[in-house]
Amino acid sequence: MASALLEDIKYLGIQPVKVVSISSDLPMLYEQAEKLIRQGNAFVCFCSQEKMRELRHEGFGCSCRNDDTKRNLDEWKKVLGKNYKEGEAVLRLKGDMSSPNHVMRDPVLFRVTYKEHYLQGAKYCVWPLYDFANSVEDGTMGITHVMRSSEFGTMRIELQDRIKDLLKLPRQTIIQYGRFNVRGAVTQGREIRKLMETGAIKSWDDPQLVTIKALRRRGIQPETFWELAIEVGLSPTETNFDWQMISAFNRKVLDPKCSRYFYVENPQKATVKGAPQRKVELKLHPDAPERGSRQFFVSDAFYLSKKDLDAISKLKGASLVRLMDCLNFKKSDSGFVFDSVEYERYRMSGSTIIHWLPADDKSLLSVKVLMPDGSTSKGLAESATAGLKAGEIVQFARFGFCRLESKNEHAKELSFIYCHN
Ligand SMILES: [Zn+2]
Repeated sequence: MASALLEDIKYLGIQPVKVVSISSDLPMLYEQAEKLIRQGNAFVCFCSQEKMRELRHEGFGCSCRNDDTKRNLDEWKKVLGKNYKEGEAVLRLKGDMSSPNHVMRDPVLFRVTYKEHYLQGAKYCVWPLYDFANSVEDGTMGITHVMRSSEFGTMRIELQDRIKDLLKLPRQTIIQYGRFNVRGAVTQGREIRKLMETGAIKSWDDPQLVTIKALRRRGIQPETFWELAIEVGLSPTETNFDWQMISAFNRKVLDPKCSRYFYVENPQKATVKGAPQRKVELKLHPDAPERGSRQFFVSDAFYLSKKDLDAISKLKGASLVRLMDCLNFKKSDSGFVFDSVEYERYRMSGSTIIHWLPADDKSLLSVKVLMPDGSTSKGLAESATAGLKAGEIVQFARFGFCRLESKNEHAKELSFIYCHN
């Protein structure tokens, strides 16, 4: 998990100065604990959880807090030496049992656990709780500002400051912020795990999710995350925003750098009677001629998407339909009839522009696009897409931005994931 998190951070362009694992700092943390015991500010407690819950609720200390320093030091060594079972002993801060902030009422700093650690194995049986570990790590590492989720609560800041003060460690400026929620998306780790168990979601990078992994897979650029963070700000309350906001930022980043191609979803053959045989040249990006172009050899046979054909069949009158950057045609009783090639003619009396592929072209590629709802769009793409590399993002005209996930050169088949329109 830790390395997965690091990968996410690196994708966003953040290079950690140092990565610290608490499990490799245990000897130092034990030393700091001993310091507290010597000061008389921490004690080993043998009371049951139930008893302590009650005492803390009522505001009374247990009898262990009166043990002298020598006995506490001896017991602490025995705890570290694996002489106690889980739940038999804990190290507590001698806090303030009458504090209105219950967190301050003799909280546990360390507890015994014999669960094997993924890095340390069975080497240690005494592990610090979050507040102690964080206070000491932040204090000893020279951290000045701490940013963390407001789910953490403000009551624990008092406890962490207390621990730092007792150990003469510097306090930090704490900035807490609320969760970011994308409306309509599952963002809670708990819910995601549940959906994975049922098989509705296959992995953490499933396109139905808005995890960094899923967004990265879809082609959401690192710059977009920065833009969003600046736009949303560090509000202590939860922030809800729409997917449209993510896609708007990302489109601005992608649009100038992605080449455009034709992908015809659910392709159907259509004939435009009288269409001349000719060569059509289309730019890879209308605003970047230096990027080059691709050529099509067209006749009267085209592939059009079923959706477009259905829409054309509902058109009334003799208005022109334009095959993008190619020709204009009209509907007639006997089918589609060629009208002209000039865009000007279309501009005067046209109703719709659609994209297309030459049906005689033997080098078209089969394409699959994994959609955000988990479904798959299937169709054909122009031959120029054969040169794309995995990871490249393209804009399919009138369909959307898609990131190439894999290609099967042998079968001339490309698998994309949908980013946004
Ligand atoms: Zn006790």
